[in-house]
Amino acid sequence: MSGTDSSASRSACNSKGSMIVVSNRLPFILKRNEKTGELERKASAGGLVTAVAPVVIRGSGIWVGWPGIHLDDPNEKIPESNPNDKTPTAGLLSEKIVPIHAEPKLFDSYYNGCCNGTFWPLFHSMPDRATFIADHWKAYIKCNEEFAEKTVHALHLLKQQKGKNGNSPPIVWVHDYHLMLAANWIRQRAEEDEIKCKLAFFLHIPFPPWDIFRLFPWSDEVLQGILGCDMVGFHITDYCLNFIDCCQRNLGCRVDRKNLLVELGGRTICVRPLPIGVPFDRFVQLAQNAKPVLSTNQQVILGVDRLDYTKGLVHRLKAFERLLEKYPEHIEKVVLLQISVPSRTDVKEYQDLKEGMDQLVGRINGRFTTPNWSPIRYIYGCVGQDELAAFYRDAAAALVTPLRDGMNLVAKEFVACQINKPPGVLIVSPFAGAGEMMHEALICNPYELDDAAEVIHRALIMPEDERTVRMNHLRRREQLNDVDSWMKAFLKAMDSLEEEADDIGATSMQPVTIDDFDEYLSKYIGYTQKLALLLDYDGTLAPIAPHPDLATLPLETKHTLQRLSNMSDVYIAIISGRNVDNVKNMVS
Ligand code: UDP
Repeated sequence: MSGTDSSASRSACNSKGSMIVVSNRLPFILKRNEKTGELERKASAGGLVTAVAPVVIRGSGIWVGWPGIHLDDPNEKIPESNPNDKTPTAGLLSEKIVPIHAEPKLFDSYYNGCCNGTFWPLFHSMPDRATFIADHWKAYIKCNEEFAEKTVHALHLLKQQKGKNGNSPPIVWVHDYHLMLAANWIRQRAEEDEIKCKLAFFLHIPFPPWDIFRLFPWSDEVLQGILGCDMVGFHITDYCLNFIDCCQRNLGCRVDRKNLLVELGGRTICVRPLPIGVPFDRFVQLAQNAKPVLSTNQQVILGVDRLDYTKGLVHRLKAFERLLEKYPEHIEKVVLLQISVPSRTDVKEYQDLKEGMDQLVGRINGRFTTPNWSPIRYIYGCVGQDELAAFYRDAAAALVTPLRDGMNLVAKEFVACQINKPPGVLIVSPFAGAGEMMHEALICNPYELDDAAEVIHRALIMPEDERTVRMNHLRRREQLNDVDSWMKAFLKAMDSLEEEADDIGATSMQPVTIDDFDEYLSKYIGYTQKLALLLDYDGTLAPIAPHPDLATLPLETKHTLQRLSNMSDVYIAIISGRNVDNVKNMVS
């Protein structure tokens, strides 16, 4: 499949009430021009900002966040955007920005200490890396109070402004693990000041299981903080269920796991899976326009990650080394191109990781390099999105193998850029949110090096038709669930999506949901807890192959079927034009 299906592209969405976004960082950073001494904006090109900023701007909303610089004079004016700025935040006027100012030491203790030293590793289920320091927690509380205070100020600004969204209450959307305590203060102060608003929270990283979460000494306060919102969003259902579990076990809340609800203090909080997407069409365009940057006849396996211990980079290099040991036919035929973006470079743990990676790359290259070839090309730096799109497009496979990751956008961007024939193969870890729903990717457990090497081998020798079938499915899903549709899903979950004329038509064209399907089936079989799976064989369970005997069941499908067949409330039937003996033979 090349290009995009224009019928799937959707119109921009609007919010019924004005939106106040509260995030640790503003959607741009401020830098001081060394020559003029003036502050300047440096825009961010991230997918989240692309989707959210236009909704804030169109609804005359406000963005609350830290500007990326400690200003000596907190009243120094935020500059307007540069007239040549074409990024999505260009229309965000300085009067619509409420910057956070914090004393540098306090901010460091909050940001580097509590957010990145505690919550980041703990929420990625790596408690041994987490530090639990009371002073960092105190700084976290103080900074969250400051964010809450500035948000209340923003609510007052909105009240004064007679905007087009004056009749609907504003939505306050608090983002991520930096701000898990802010909601209750905002709620209380808004109530005292008689300002109506709806509060939402979205976590961009995983929410860990109860056994991990409860290691945090002040875990009750974190839950109570998040529950200050009316709606709480996570990337996937697993994180929602972890959160609900913690609310029940830590706080004794009444919960409803089926409808994803939590009750606390007479209020009902909705918990929703809202998997974020990427600006799919933008990446297609980038891929169409990007000049080739890879000049090699070898198959390129691509890795693109921030240099973070959650990304499983050491495991990845070792799996690649194992591939070369087990399958020497790939020597001089395959290259691993790893782009590692410097991250938190002032932190010792990250410096050690960099050193470890440098040594490992050196050791593997030293072991396998021939006069005309080196197995690993290692870029330690940041690559612009144009160039990145060319890497994605021209790679034979992408290795997205984090040990734990909230979602992972690289997997989705890679898929969007697969406009060439034959397309590349996506290899993804089941421990990334993306692995949860990108079913047609090859799933690879990064901890199991032998198996990981097998999966990479399988990707490299995968026939063109199988690559194409898998990639077509992946692309269709990512195009449908792009970042704009995530934005819409959020507004819908808040009951704040302003329906437009063409949206109303589009609603009737929405894909069938599980609930629709249940309702339809109930007419015929009543409401039953039993599940019947009627599975087509060729092209569904097994990829289409040049000859029927070659259409074998992938190992992971076989395992899944075996597990399902052991469940007493699941019936499995296979539909096929093959004869019964042949089907039995193929699946046994
Ligand atoms: N990225 C980039 N330049 C690079 C490497 C990565 O712009 O050299 C971007 C990439 O396009 C993606 C983001 O960084 O949008 C990484 O997001 P992801 O969810 O994969 O990981 P995170 O860094 O947020 O944990």
